[in-house]
Amino acid sequence: RQNERESLYIILNFAKNFFQEQLNATEEGQAIGLSYLKERGFNDTIRKKFELGYSPDVWDALTQAAIAKGYNADLLEKAGLLIRREGSNSGGYDRFRGRVIFPIHNVAGKVIAFGARILKTDPNAKGHQPKYLNSPETDVYHKSDVLYGIYQAKNTIRQLDVCYLVEGYTDVVSLHQAGIENVVASSGTSLTVEQIRLIGRFTPNVTILYDGDPAGIKAALRGLDLVLEEGLNVSIVTFPNGEDPDSYVQRVGAEAFKKHLQSAARDFITFKTQTLLEDAGDDPFRKAAVITDVVGSIVKIPDAIKRQIFFRRTAEMMRVDEQMLITEGNKILRKEK
Ligand code: ATP
Ligand code: MN
Ligand code: MN
Ligand code: MN
Repeated sequence: RQNERESLYIILNFAKNFFQEQLNATEEGQAIGLSYLKERGFNDTIRKKFELGYSPDVWDALTQAAIAKGYNADLLEKAGLLIRREGSNSGGYDRFRGRVIFPIHNVAGKVIAFGARILKTDPNAKGHQPKYLNSPETDVYHKSDVLYGIYQAKNTIRQLDVCYLVEGYTDVVSLHQAGIENVVASSGTSLTVEQIRLIGRFTPNVTILYDGDPAGIKAALRGLDLVLEEGLNVSIVTFPNGEDPDSYVQRVGAEAFKKHLQSAARDFITFKTQTLLEDAGDDPFRKAAVITDVVGSIVKIPDAIKRQIFFRRTAEMMRVDEQMLITEGNKILRKEK
């Protein structure tokens, strides 16, 4: 088993080098991949730091290159790089074709998977191709355990004692380029306990920088009780509608971005209370539902002192009695047992 995993790391590393070479040293890669990345504002240094690459727009460029080097098709398939043609044990095609490649590293820096972005999001350009393709689950890649960028970010996370959590690959890359290096991405999925514990190895403080669209805000409200439950301190920064950390930092620049992080950060309970209260307006029933919802989050916090602080602060924001919230919290806890 250990040997099998080692072989996967080796073929994945070979693929990473292949994709990088394609991006930097071929005509197609430069004309298509490199010019795309340059248009998006990514410089040489950052492309190298994240080992970005390009997969040529042909059926089996990687497979051919790997086989020429003596690797076999089985290994390529097990690494998630080759898709077999139905009913065939010889033929197959590359999973990633005509895309910009984002290698995904584990904490130790080994490549374990890839994310791959289509070049144009024109819906008519390529039938119904998804914007991003990812490696499937393999013996070395368990999506729910992984955070994109953790290898590049871990030292700075520890040093600054806070981790910024974004949605996408390009958010991580852009923020690094702007000198903000304590950032990882959940890559579009809702957070898992494993991912939260991974952050917790480096810091108890997480600031969520989700996209400024309804989906991003919803995701921020949804998945985060889990983070509270793990004892992490959660804050939220939002962005103007339609912007994400990548587009925002590229528009306003690094300094203004950092200022925004300072001035717009709200702790999660405050953010949740304010957002839900605004939605509820004057409707007493909806306001009651907000109280239950927010108290449900507060009781997830393991630390009694922090819980106490949030009960007080939330009571003020809601203009209700603090003791009533505590009673409500005890009710929820009894029901959950
Ligand atoms: P870009 O700026 O290149 O459009 P993004 O990161 O802003 O990318 P979003 O649409 O905000 O893209 O999605 C956030 C993340 O969710 C992506 O980085 C990717 O990890 C994941 N994702 C998005 N679309 C898909 C998809 N169709 N299939 C799989 N994962 C996806
Ligand atoms: Mn989004
Ligand atoms: Mn984006
Ligand atoms: Mn985005």
